[in-house]
Amino acid sequence: MRAGGSDPIREAAGLLAEHRNAVVLTGAGISVASGIPSFRGAQGMWAKYDPMEYATLHAFMQSPRKVWEMLSEMLSVCGDAAPNAAHKGLAALEEIGVVRAVITQNVDGLHQAAGFRRVIEYHGNMEELICVFCWKRYRTRERWTQGTVPLCDCGEILKPNVVLFGEPIPWLAQEQAEEEARTCGVLLVVGTSAQVSPACDIPRIAKESGAAVVEINPEETSLSGNVTDVHLRGSASEVLWQLLKELSPGDEASPRTPSGH
Ligand code: NAD
Ligand code: ZN
Repeated sequence: MRAGGSDPIREAAGLLAEHRNAVVLTGAGISVASGIPSFRGAQGMWAKYDPMEYATLHAFMQSPRKVWEMLSEMLSVCGDAAPNAAHKGLAALEEIGVVRAVITQNVDGLHQAAGFRRVIEYHGNMEELICVFCWKRYRTRERWTQGTVPLCDCGEILKPNVVLFGEPIPWLAQEQAEEEARTCGVLLVVGTSAQVSPACDIPRIAKESGAAVVEINPEETSLSGNVTDVHLRGSASEVLWQLLKELSPGDEASPRTPSGH
């Protein structure tokens, strides 16, 4: 934790203004205000579905119909969700040239829905289904309806094209994420507990390459107090809106400045 900065928002805004090539790493916390529960915590998905029973490739291969109970819930929750002020705030930061990319662990597509352009989907997304036997892919909305289990033309049960525990990160996303982490001046870490590997290595890679790490999270995480330079404690929407105000003082700089935070 960086000492001395009396106002952490101003300190973070100063870093962002100085470098203007920030990269953002987001996690489930940024989408909580859109009605998508995170995985950890009392309201989290894991309170209902044990990840070892529902979120591993092994579990999917053993009992795909059971895993689809959790996947169906996730798909319908994501299908109903819209981007919140935090997603819009990040898109506005990209628009004004402060942020250049977002690496997201989320699979909900809400950064793109908010208009963010350079999104690296580290864990895939729910919009596509894939057959783990013949690798054929389908649009989820063309193959799946609530209450059914989608089948491939080859007869096997399809899997959303997301990374379950035990699966590798998509090669291109991993390459791009590491490159962004190595070359950014500031890494903004928003709404992740940084416990899922290898995504949790991204802040360390950025830090070791000389970037400042700014964390937005109401709670302490494994990064706080060591990797994190500036910890902005608060909800993502509230803090990002404050940062935007600092970075575009008194103005109409961005037509997409978020509201309703
Ligand atoms: P996590 O559930 O482990 O941690 C969420 C973090 O967000 C916590 O540290 C919490 O304090 C913080 N948080 C909660 N509300 C917040 C808010 N309003 N503003 C800022 N921070 C807030 O999530 P994770 O680290 O992303 O790991 C979970 C894994 O599960 C990820 O890999 C992700 O792929 C997946 N996941 C995705 C979604 C989604 O796509 N929306 C939802 C749940 C889980
Ligand atoms: Zn198939």
